[in-house]
Amino acid sequence: MRYDLVIIGGGPAGVAGAVYAARKKLKTRIIAEAFGGQSLVSASVENWIGTPKASGFDLGEMFKAHLKAQEGLEIGEGEHVERIEPIAEGFRVLTERGDSYETNGVLLATGSVRRKLGVPGERELEGRGVAYCSICDAPLFGGKDVAVVGGGNSGLEAVGDLLPYAKHVFLFHHAAALAGDPATRDRVLADKEKVTVILNAETTMVAGDAWVTGIRYRLPAAPSAAGADETRELSVEGVFVEVGLDPASALVKDLVALNDRGEVITDPHTQATSRPGIWAAGDVTDGRYRQNNISAGDAVKAVLHIYETFTKAAGVLQ
Ligand SMILES: Cc1cc2nc3c(=O)[nH]c(=O)nc-3n(C[C@H](O)[C@H](O)[C@H](O)COP(=O)(O)OP(=O)(O)OC[C@H]3O[C@@H](n4cnc5c(N)ncnc54)[C@H](O)[C@@H]3O)c2cc1C
Repeated sequence: MRYDLVIIGGGPAGVAGAVYAARKKLKTRIIAEAFGGQSLVSASVENWIGTPKASGFDLGEMFKAHLKAQEGLEIGEGEHVERIEPIAEGFRVLTERGDSYETNGVLLATGSVRRKLGVPGERELEGRGVAYCSICDAPLFGGKDVAVVGGGNSGLEAVGDLLPYAKHVFLFHHAAALAGDPATRDRVLADKEKVTVILNAETTMVAGDAWVTGIRYRLPAAPSAAGADETRELSVEGVFVEVGLDPASALVKDLVALNDRGEVITDPHTQATSRPGIWAAGDVTDGRYRQNNISAGDAVKAVLHIYETFTKAAGVLQ
């Protein structure tokens, strides 16, 4: 079986791309480890247009239902793509369990992976006070003391997102000075009553059982002091980890141009990459903002351009 299009990814980008591709009657297979994408772990998604409120899990179920309603679409759930090989005409997509699919085009919608702190308590308390998306989850922390870990732009923006809701925000940064843009820094840190910056702090643990109760961190001994580093614990009910995102672009690193952050460089009008036949959408790309609706919109653009490209090549469109 040869495909017009293989879509890799089950987040909003992959799913939106698959719905549009099926409706354009492109012979399409969507392959994803799971459907729902990163917000799957979110307690409440409140800005997916047309849906005032849904848990990430429910959103994933809605994505699957929408895919299953598409005639002719092949759905490869629970499959992991291991490699994409260029062949004489198009590409061969190979999965971990040994299947391979030949296709004229690939839409890469593999998203990004939030960088983790990798400290005890983080994984156990994810979704129970440990959060990775301040735009999405800040309203859940109304009236609470909250920590943000990461003093770059994402961390500063997270503080800005939390300020209208949280009782107090503690911003932890591992270095001696914050790293974000000065303008963002000044804007966000202006509220001295509500924000405390803790520099040179290395987070060592997230404490809690059913929910986060605190954050443990290490401060270095003063250079003049002979003593050892000092470990402290602060009571908070939320920990926002904002230490960066890594694009999941490994599959195409030798096939298309990436920027210095490893993001796939795309034409923002069409989502085409540097290699004909490969398009990319959503968080894996060099797009400026990372949101569900944006990922879906990117993929819709990509599929309309894929359809136009393929029908032109077939001589259907002029
Ligand atoms: C906790 C959290 C909450 C969030 N809440 C919101 C929110 O409320 N509103 C909002 O707009 N944004 C939110 N975001 C941001 C939003 O989730 C992302 O911008 C969005 O998910 C990006 O969509 P995507 O389709 O590009 O990629 P992703 O959602 O990252 O999806 C990538 C998909 O690709 C699959 N995949 C990756 N590699 C492979 C492979 N090799 N083989 C097969 N499958 C693969 C993954 O399993 C996944 O299904 C949140 C993010 C997080 C982390």
